[in-house]
Amino acid sequence: MATPQQLQLLAPLSGVLMALDEVPDPVFAGRIIGDGLCIDPTSSTLCAPLAGVVSDVQVSGHALTITSDTGVQVLMHIGLDTVNLAGKGFIRRVEAGQRVVAGQALIDFDADYIALHARSLLTLMLVVSGEPFDSLVGSTGLLEVGQPVLDVGVGVSPGENPAAAQGDAVFSQPINLPNPNGLHARPAAVFAQAAKAFSATIHLHRLQAQANAKSLVAIMALQTAQGDSVQVSAEGDDAEAAVEALTRLLTEGCGEAVTAPAPVEVVGAEMPNILRGVCASPGSALGQVMQIVEATLMVNEFGAAPPVEREALSQALIEADMALQHLRDTASGEAQAEIFRAHQELLADPSLLDQAHALIDEGKSAAFAWKTSTEATAAMFRSLGNALLAERAADLADVGQRVLKLILGVHEQTLELADDTILIADQLTPSQTAGLDTRKVLGFATVGGGATSHVAILARACGLPAICGMPMQMLTLDNGTRVLLDADKGELQLHPDAESIDQLRTRHAQQRQRHQQELAQASEAACTRDGQHIEVTANVASQSETAQAMELGANGVGLLRSEFLYLDRQQAPSHDEQVATYSAIARTIGPAHNLVVRTLDVGGDKPLAYVPMDSESNPFLGLRGIRLCLERPQLLREQFRAILACSALTRLHIMLPMVTHLAELRLARQILEQEAQVLGLTHLPKLGIMIEVPAVALMADVLAPHVDFFSIGTNDLTQYTLAMDRDHPRLASQADSFHPAVLRLIAMTVKAAHAHGKWVGVCGAMASERLAVPLLLGLGVDELSVSVPLIPAIKSAVRELNLADCRIIAEQVSNLESAGDVRDALQRFHEVKVDGSPVMEN
Ligand code: PEP
Ligand code: MG
Repeated sequence: MATPQQLQLLAPLSGVLMALDEVPDPVFAGRIIGDGLCIDPTSSTLCAPLAGVVSDVQVSGHALTITSDTGVQVLMHIGLDTVNLAGKGFIRRVEAGQRVVAGQALIDFDADYIALHARSLLTLMLVVSGEPFDSLVGSTGLLEVGQPVLDVGVGVSPGENPAAAQGDAVFSQPINLPNPNGLHARPAAVFAQAAKAFSATIHLHRLQAQANAKSLVAIMALQTAQGDSVQVSAEGDDAEAAVEALTRLLTEGCGEAVTAPAPVEVVGAEMPNILRGVCASPGSALGQVMQIVEATLMVNEFGAAPPVEREALSQALIEADMALQHLRDTASGEAQAEIFRAHQELLADPSLLDQAHALIDEGKSAAFAWKTSTEATAAMFRSLGNALLAERAADLADVGQRVLKLILGVHEQTLELADDTILIADQLTPSQTAGLDTRKVLGFATVGGGATSHVAILARACGLPAICGMPMQMLTLDNGTRVLLDADKGELQLHPDAESIDQLRTRHAQQRQRHQQELAQASEAACTRDGQHIEVTANVASQSETAQAMELGANGVGLLRSEFLYLDRQQAPSHDEQVATYSAIARTIGPAHNLVVRTLDVGGDKPLAYVPMDSESNPFLGLRGIRLCLERPQLLREQFRAILACSALTRLHIMLPMVTHLAELRLARQILEQEAQVLGLTHLPKLGIMIEVPAVALMADVLAPHVDFFSIGTNDLTQYTLAMDRDHPRLASQADSFHPAVLRLIAMTVKAAHAHGKWVGVCGAMASERLAVPLLLGLGVDELSVSVPLIPAIKSAVRELNLADCRIIAEQVSNLESAGDVRDALQRFHEVKVDGSPVMEN
């Protein structure tokens, strides 16, 4: 036990000191959050009043907490109601998890803007961990930043009651947070205060993360937002009463005026018959509901001697690494293996380990230290507002839980699954998804996750239909409820009637039959009924995928995403290694077909570990693709050199991503020519560009004379044309490449290319959609580069069409109003022109 000591807190700002009682806000004046002082600032940089770790910094930048090594937690809150400014007027200079020294600048703020736009600029500094203190400056007067102001007594840390951490936890129903800014400081303080009235150990849960409900800081670190689904759990004598009272409090807004209190959703008459989300993995299945609720792991804060706890952590990390290696070795595909490799990298991450070891050395248990360091890093990832990093936070939470269970000796619960199970969960982790028994699990639906998440990738790899972004209501369905999961439509139908079930069975039988037929004809050419040959090539990211593609009848590779070849590598691959990789792929394709190698498309949603980049507030609009490569020409030069080394093995094409200006193409060509000259090559490979930026589609006539080909990246072209993040789960249904605006850009590109005798491919996901085939052919596209398993289906779709009909329908739909109208018209076209079948196909 620590002996009481004193800790001096410094003034975080210059200004006029005010008594807390005078603050015009009952939560602060009533010391509900904690006791401390209030300053009317005359300076505009908030500085650290003590040394420690930034245990929470609100995304909006208006509040921040520092935890000292002795456990004292000090919250600083700039202004009143400043959460409503949503970050405007604040510049954060530190991140959560960062260690700071006393006096270090933390947040710059625009005092004029805040004074004009918020209720007040009064700034609070509160000791939220509850230690008593003596004031060194009285209750009023002028303060200078850095001047000692409070003397805090450092004694026993107010941790959780370990005696209560026994037995089974009681869980609330999921609650949708009604607070416009989530549980920021004030509602979080009201909630923590209410939780402290109970002796039970109480946690608040959001997705994979959980917080001690009695800790204001922990609640704020959950970084909740309006509409987030949270749950309360409690263990101990008054657990049930605690869960009931705190659920009510959350529903009512924790003392904050909420316009429409979100009701606790219950199964009942209001449950609609169909719940809708976003397709994460196509297909459909009929089965019965099995809810998956991840158990909350109870962790003691303090541990044995540091060497013992370090050893416990190190043992758990070794075991976790072995388990992940086993998952990698037995993975059914490369995508799956890659995800577990990334998890292994996280286990060895030095910064996570440093944080955990530092906590162990302070007397914390291995479990507590590991949990704290992984959760703080995951929270930091989430707070950066980048979809990809948010997904990495999910991976980190998964790895965190795996190691935690090993430290605590908690065995994975084996689920008793019925034969036809549809799993329902708030969120599944990649580990859970990879471990699913696909003989029994027919599909799953989750509230969290996105169509591009690792869970979605794994679902596609195992061929399991899956929907994400489902309403919270789904989590209240009883186990055993009969449901029809139609991932193609993003729908979960409850209690399906006999007719729907019959339709599904007929559809499955037809799909199976058609699939067999397509496979049998996979090696035949893709020619329309009226004789137009279309190249159907593959989108690949490895040699093994290339081999698979060629076996499935691909006419070569239309897109080699070279950035995926060395994902998660800490060191750049050597020249020889790169040559070996490209040559192996080139040999697999052979001299009769095209290999289109796209140069590194790093940045945006694809960070590459060995290409460190500054963080950007808008990475999709920042240094992506060719922009980054031209900024670091050595990277491009080395890649060109390695690609050129395989030019004799195949019909080599090089493609530049994210081109916006003709000047970028010119510069890249210059570098390519120089490298070819060094190698003594007389013949340059074909050089083309991706059409992903609307500017180059609009100026395709200017660019066409300078390229050998175009390939349209409809994923990015749609994102930039519609101004919708391609990974945004809520915009997934609107960010549709069938939008007429995108179709018009495709038409312009093709027209300009053909006028100059150049060919055009489409390598975005749109080309892999059967429904899009007549449209793209009608728009004049020459090549469809598609995802590997769909090669036979897309070739067969081409063979069913007449180019003349395709041209008519393409022109018609380009004049429609919306993507939905385009899809409907294409569906009708399919029913009438192809085989008269009324079945929707994907
Ligand atoms: C695209 O943008 O459509 C594309 C094929 O590139 P990526 O998906 O790799 O960004
Ligand atoms: Mg792209």
